[in-house]
Amino acid sequence: MDNQLSTIDFEKTNGLVPAIIQDEKTKNVLMLGYMNEEALTKTQETGKVTFFSRTKNRLWTKGEESGNFLELKDIKLDCDNDTLLIQVSPIGPTCHKGTDTCWGEGNPSNFSFLSKLEGVIKDRHDNPDEKSYTSSLFKKGINKVAQKVGEEAVEVVIEAKDNNEELFLNESADLLYHYMILLRAKGYDLEDVVKVLEDRH
Ligand code: AMP
Ligand code: ZN
Ligand code: ZN
Ligand code: ZN
Repeated sequence: MDNQLSTIDFEKTNGLVPAIIQDEKTKNVLMLGYMNEEALTKTQETGKVTFFSRTKNRLWTKGEESGNFLELKDIKLDCDNDTLLIQVSPIGPTCHKGTDTCWGEGNPSNFSFLSKLEGVIKDRHDNPDEKSYTSSLFKKGINKVAQKVGEEAVEVVIEAKDNNEELFLNESADLLYHYMILLRAKGYDLEDVVKVLEDRH
């Protein structure tokens, strides 16, 4: 257990600390579970979130039956050492009812969809799929992708001058998508661009 986590106050919480599970990328709160010391250690050792289930009365690795594991990314302890914030990369839906979160589909902001899309784009890049248009773009190379961004940008300009709002929005979506492909092809995330904007602010 690392330094910070060794100060967890298990006594105060009768041996079980609440663990808020957050999607590292979208920032959605996915579920809440409880951990005893053993569950926390197992989580750190295996990299898969493991709770102490009060219903099952045993250690429970989320995903042990469904395969919908929560891959550990980071663990933070709160201000008074009695609650964990665990950031994860979820495999499949987290709730056993089939939704992304235990409170439905979630998505606290529209931008979390962009993070989700970015994840899909990265997957099509890393694991090319013959039937995927996204994978086929990566295959054509950076120059072709950049050219495509240029074309979509021109289309946005044209539609901005005309008065068809629907076409303007559609071309804007095309531009954003192809721009995200270009970023990935160059090895960047949207976050890298946001950081530059933040620094300028
Ligand atoms: P799993 O851990 O995903 O293989 O699911 C095993 C069992 O754990 C399910 O049948 C549910 O009873 C329970 N379960 C799974 N996910 C959740 C969740 N997010 N919240 C509460 N119970 C869950
Ligand atoms: Zn607290
Ligand atoms: Zn649930
Ligand atoms: Zn277009």
